[in-house]
Amino acid sequence: MKRFRPYFRHLRPVRGQLVVALLSLAVYSAASGIGLPFLLKWVIGPVFDGDRTRPDGEIVWLALLVPALFLVRGAAGFAGTYLFQLIGTHVLEGIRRDFFRKLQVLPLGWLQGQRAGDLTARALADAQQVQSAITMTASEGVKHPLTLVAAIGFVIYQAVDAEGVTLALVCLALVPLGVFPVRQAARKVLRRAQQSQAEMGSLSAQLGESLGAAREIRAFGLEDRVTGQFGVTSRALLAAQLKIAKYVQLIGPLVEFISACGVALTLVYAYRAGIKFNVLLGVLVALQQCYEPVKRLGLLNSEMKRGLAALDRLETVLHEPVTIADPALPAHVTRLRGDIAFAGVSFAYRADTPVLHDVSIRIPAGTVCALVGPTGAGKSTFVNLVPRFYDATAGTVTVDGIDVRGMRLADLRRNLALVSQEAVLFHDTIGNNILLGREGATRAEVESAARDAFAHDFITAFPQGYDTIVGERGASLSGGQRQRVALARAFLRDAPILILDEATSALDSESEAFIQAALKKLMAGRTVLIIAHRFSTIRDASTILVFEKGGIVAAGSHAAVYAASPLYKSLYDLQGASA
Ligand code: ADP
Repeated sequence: MKRFRPYFRHLRPVRGQLVVALLSLAVYSAASGIGLPFLLKWVIGPVFDGDRTRPDGEIVWLALLVPALFLVRGAAGFAGTYLFQLIGTHVLEGIRRDFFRKLQVLPLGWLQGQRAGDLTARALADAQQVQSAITMTASEGVKHPLTLVAAIGFVIYQAVDAEGVTLALVCLALVPLGVFPVRQAARKVLRRAQQSQAEMGSLSAQLGESLGAAREIRAFGLEDRVTGQFGVTSRALLAAQLKIAKYVQLIGPLVEFISACGVALTLVYAYRAGIKFNVLLGVLVALQQCYEPVKRLGLLNSEMKRGLAALDRLETVLHEPVTIADPALPAHVTRLRGDIAFAGVSFAYRADTPVLHDVSIRIPAGTVCALVGPTGAGKSTFVNLVPRFYDATAGTVTVDGIDVRGMRLADLRRNLALVSQEAVLFHDTIGNNILLGREGATRAEVESAARDAFAHDFITAFPQGYDTIVGERGASLSGGQRQRVALARAFLRDAPILILDEATSALDSESEAFIQAALKKLMAGRTVLIIAHRFSTIRDASTILVFEKGGIVAAGSHAAVYAASPLYKSLYDLQGASA
């Protein structure tokens, strides 16, 4: 219960409904627990025991009290249950929103260690499980204790009324015993639920990964293999769920068996004590009413345990520290000039394997800086430190003399545009995909950016023009078209710092020419960090940084580094030969 408490804040916006729901459930419980027995024994009973001379009309009215009671009980039950569903959807929405938001701010380094499908399962299945536990606690947790108190009260009242308190106590003696099997079962449920939720995550991850690699699976003939793996996980999930079902379903019969023992005990006692059978019958019926809430509370307990297992999985994400965050006292930053400096910067993704060693370099504002070097030398890592995708483990990265960790992330990143090898588009219209560059830009600005990127003509050639939906990840556009949309986005952003990851794969020569021309225009007047693969790009850069094994081994103009660095000379000559 305590663990769920922080999430009860999601109940706040619907507290009005919660009060009405609880009142409805109270009416429902009262109607079921004492309403009917009361009506039968004290209102209808005496009429039947009398001389039966009452007029028909009065009997009809009296009889109608029974459906009336059920109408009230039904309406209250419906209102209570429906409102709890409504409250539940609010809670679920709140939890999911928090979870999604957290995923957006967690460090990339953390995210890369996760399986996307598993996170999806947490956002969907686990959040659902937690919601179900919270709303069940809020409803059943109120309803059944109330019913229990009402029913116990009735048993005692009946017994006092008839043959003394002892009968009642004998009847109720076994009620606490019902709690033991319930607790035992719930404990088992918790273990299995943890396993089941983990399997669910794994299943979802396998599904996601197989869809992401659909081409590769077909090309390498891996269909049977991945299906087999999926089957193994799927069966493990099934087994865990069946175990849960077994323990949950055991709770009812166990409590019923214990209540039957209570009945037996009562029978023996009542016989010895000379209690009349009709008195006994009333007490036994009420006794049955006492065990029902115990059973229900048992089920609720197991539901809470399943909720706890799911909550653990949500909280590993929700409680994960956001290490890349805004500083407490951010520097005032509007538009930066783009003067980048690394001073004694070292970085490691994992503590024991440093990737950058003591890198110091200044990249003056407005210069184009090409990063070259063999794969794995640390070029991407170097550029990733500028937008604070990662933080340096030692040393500082500054822009215009301000430590990047001293600015608000939004301020820093507003001054940056990023164009990666694989142009990433969202499932939306082309216009909106460009608009991501700068929210609030006008249609004319979007079109002008598209013109600059040589994208306007192909966009307007589509029947829907800028309103054409690009398909998931831009599937309905060619590679060159996607690149140009991504460039248009960068034009619209108009940031002083540009980070480019040059595509290694060749595009068709027409696209290539357009993209080169667009890039040239885009780079003018900005500080550009470009992970370069092309001969032409490298030659046009004002500075070349040669990376080797996590360090910059040469920096300067083409002529200077060509003379100074044998590595650069060999890389360049190799490129030159193939170009
Ligand atoms: P480059 O861009 O020059 O090819 P990278 O900066 O991508 O090189 O990689 C430098 C080194 O860091 C490589 O040894 C690579 O394996 C390692 N590396 C890159 N990204 C990660 C990551 N997310 N987690 C762990 N190691 C990484």
